[in-house]
Amino acid sequence: MKQRIIVYANQKGGVGKTTTVANLSAALALTGRRVLLVDMDPQGNASTHLNVKPAENQKSTYDLLLKECPLKDVVVTAKENLDVVPAGVMLANAEAELVVAKGSDSRLKRGLANATNYHYILIDCPPSLGQLTVNAMTAANEVMVVVEAEGFAYEGTAYLLKVVEETRKYCNPLVKITGLICTKFVSTLKLSKDIHERLTQNFGEVMFKTNIRKNVKLAEAAAAKKDIFEYDENCTGAQDYAALCKEIIEQEGNQ
Ligand code: ATP
Ligand code: MG
Repeated sequence: MKQRIIVYANQKGGVGKTTTVANLSAALALTGRRVLLVDMDPQGNASTHLNVKPAENQKSTYDLLLKECPLKDVVVTAKENLDVVPAGVMLANAEAELVVAKGSDSRLKRGLANATNYHYILIDCPPSLGQLTVNAMTAANEVMVVVEAEGFAYEGTAYLLKVVEETRKYCNPLVKITGLICTKFVSTLKLSKDIHERLTQNFGEVMFKTNIRKNVKLAEAAAAKKDIFEYDENCTGAQDYAALCKEIIEQEGNQ
């Protein structure tokens, strides 16, 4: 079994990183593959989405990164085939603490060294390119960029690519961009189509065919602390994330 460790990143906030990580993890788990979701965002949205919130005494990503806590002590089972390393507010301190910690860039990599029984490890990042995101990129072998088909979709993409390049150079020569996911897509909107076209021109070879269409059910599912397949398996959000999951699995045939 070749394990895939995939980071979902964009320093722009609110583009759909967490929605993608939570629902894709659920989709992969439904196919019978073992999945670990690592929540690297102090907001803890991915944990909440899957109804996993660290209780008072529950250890979290913070303990994995800064207390050398073994993985088995921080993992919570969310559902069949899907485990989560939850994030809590303590993780907000990690950004500053990592700056002075020894081996700071590779703390997550070390923490995940024993996570060999998962087919997929998906990592949700905060909307920044600080220590937490660099740790995620150092632990991973793939980066998938999440871009929304609205607003200033391009703001910061060049900088994100530069951070991936720097991570390759200094921390992890194996990591590469293997996907670009266009979210909040509205086929009837000119802006959506324009952004999609520009993304295709710039990232053609890594861009997924599946666009995640705008669908309010995705927001409702998050609020209900359910993945989209539990919440409404027939909505377009569920269809799109199932199709994206299929494409991601199909990438393995091309390797
Ligand atoms: P942050 O950078 O703050 O972590 P994020 O990139 O993780 O944000 P999400 O939290 O996944 O973004 O999404 C932002 C908001 O947009 C949420 O309210 C979410 O429910 C909603 N959303 C995400 N994807 C879609 C979609 N395809 N259609 C409609 N709403 C969506
Ligand atoms: Mg998020």
